[in-house]
Amino acid sequence: MTNKRQFLKTTTPRAVGAILSRVAKAEEPVAHETNWAGNLRYNADQIFAPRSVEEVQKIVKECASIRALGSRHSFNTIADSLTNHISLQHLDTIELDEKAYTVTVGAGVRYGALAPVIDVKGFAVHNLASLPHITIAGAIATATHGSGMKNGNLATAVRALEIVTASGEILTLTRDRDQDQFNGAVVGLGAVGIIAKVTLDLQPRFDMTQIVYRNLSINQLEHNLEAIFASGYSVSLFTNWQNHNINQVWIKRRRFAGENHEIAPEFYGANAATENLHPIDGLSAVNCTEQLSVSGPWYERLPHFKMNFTPSSGAELQTEYFVPRNRGYEAIVAVEQLRDKITPHLLVTELRAVAADDLWMSMAYERNSLAIHFTWKPEPAEVMALLPKIEEKLAPFQARPHWGKLFTVAPSQLAARHPKMADFKALLNHHDPQGKFSNKFIDRNIFGA
Ligand SMILES: Cc1cc2nc3c(=O)[nH]c(=O)nc-3n(C[C@H](O)[C@H](O)[C@H](O)COP(=O)(O)OP(=O)(O)OC[C@H]3O[C@@H](n4cnc5c(N)ncnc54)[C@H](O)[C@@H]3O)c2cc1C
Repeated sequence: MTNKRQFLKTTTPRAVGAILSRVAKAEEPVAHETNWAGNLRYNADQIFAPRSVEEVQKIVKECASIRALGSRHSFNTIADSLTNHISLQHLDTIELDEKAYTVTVGAGVRYGALAPVIDVKGFAVHNLASLPHITIAGAIATATHGSGMKNGNLATAVRALEIVTASGEILTLTRDRDQDQFNGAVVGLGAVGIIAKVTLDLQPRFDMTQIVYRNLSINQLEHNLEAIFASGYSVSLFTNWQNHNINQVWIKRRRFAGENHEIAPEFYGANAATENLHPIDGLSAVNCTEQLSVSGPWYERLPHFKMNFTPSSGAELQTEYFVPRNRGYEAIVAVEQLRDKITPHLLVTELRAVAADDLWMSMAYERNSLAIHFTWKPEPAEVMALLPKIEEKLAPFQARPHWGKLFTVAPSQLAARHPKMADFKALLNHHDPQGKFSNKFIDRNIFGA
C-alpha cells in the first residue's frame, strides 16, 4: 500500500518542489475537496490539472502515488488518494472519424459535452447513464451503465484506450489487437494507469420517445420480466418497495419514421402517466428529460436528467447490485422482504437490464444482468448499517456491487463473484508493480482477499 509517508520517502523534496513549480499554473484551487454527493472528503494534498498528454506523462513519472479524478460522481472512495490527484478536465478534445464510425475524446470530456457534437454530425453512442454529467473516462472505469436488454454497459463501446502507465510511457490498447489486456484494462477502476484518451464506437444518430406508466404490480415480473424490459430500447422500473408495486415504468423507444407513437393507455395493468414525472415521487419533473412520447434526440431521452440541471435528488447516496437476469424476479422478492427497513431511508429504487459483456471487471461480465439500484437519503450511518442485510439477501445470487457506489461485500466475496479477479490483479502488477495508481479502495477490494 502506498501512503503519504511512503510518498514522502520515495519522492525527494526537490522532486516534489519541481513538480509543483512546473504544474503550478495548471493546479486547481481546492474546488475538488469532496465528491459530488458531498458524503466524502478526498484526502489528496494536491490536484494537478495538466493541459497536455505530455504534461500528464511528466506528472505521473515524478509522483510516487497518484490517482485520477473524473467528475467526482462516485459515492465511495474509489477515486480517493492520500497524496496526489490528477484531473484531466483540460484534456477536452473530441476527434470524430466519420469513416471509421469512432470518436476519440480526451479524458476530461463528459457525455453531455460529447453528445450534441456527434449528434449534429449524424452519430450517437449506444447508450447513456441516467445522467450526462459524468466523464467518459470515469464512467468506463467503473462499468457505468444505462438500461436495455441488448445494451452493454457504457464501457462496451470502447474501441481503444491511450493510457499513461506508471513509468510515464503511453500504452495504447485496442479491442481488435490486444484482446485480453484490453478487456482487462477498460473497466480499470482507475488502477491500470491514467487514461489520456478514449476511442468509442459510434452508430447513426437516432430519435427517441419516452413514456412513463404508473403502478405495475411486482407480480407481473414473475413471468414477464424479460418481456417488460424488452418493451423498449431502454427500460427502467422505479419502486419504493411498498405495496408489491413498481411505482413508475420508464420506456425509452427508438423512433422510426412512419411508426405510431401514440401512448397505449395500459401496460401490463399499469396506467400511462398524463404529465412529466420525476422518478422520485413528489419531486418536480423540471430537471427530467421530456416524456409523454414527445420525440427528441437520443441524448435528451436516454438520460433521465437534463444536462443543465441537478441530476437525481442532489442530496443522496447510491448503491447497486447486479444479479443474473434469469433470477431477477427471485432477487427482487428477496430484497422486498426488507421493505420496511429499506423504505424509511430510501428515495427510490431503480431496476435496469444490462447485457452481458467480456470486460473483466464489469459487473455484467459474462452475465445478462438485472441491476438493482438504491438512491438513498443522505443518511450514511443508517445506510451503511442496512447494506449488509441487503447483501445477505442477494448473496445467493452472487450479486456484484457497482464499483462506484456504496457497498460492504467482503473482498473474498468480490473475488469469488468476479471470475477474472486474479487476472486483473496480475494485469495491475504487470503495469504498476509499485502500486503508484493504487489507493485504499484498491488495496482492500482487489488485493485484500
Ligand atoms: C446522480 C448520479 C447518477 C448516477 N447514475 C448512474 C447510472 O445511471 N448508471 C451507473 O452505472 N452509474 C451511475 N452513477 C455512478 C457514476 O456513473 C460512476 O460513479 C462514475 O464512475 C462516475 O464517473 P466520474 O467521471 O464522476 O468519475 P469519478 O467518480 O471521479 O471516478 C471514478 C473512477 O474513475 C477513475 N478515473 C476517472 N478518470 C480517470 C482517468 N482519466 N484515468 C483513469 N481513471 C480515471 C477514478 O480514479 C475512479 O477510480 C451515478 C452517479 C450519480 C452521482
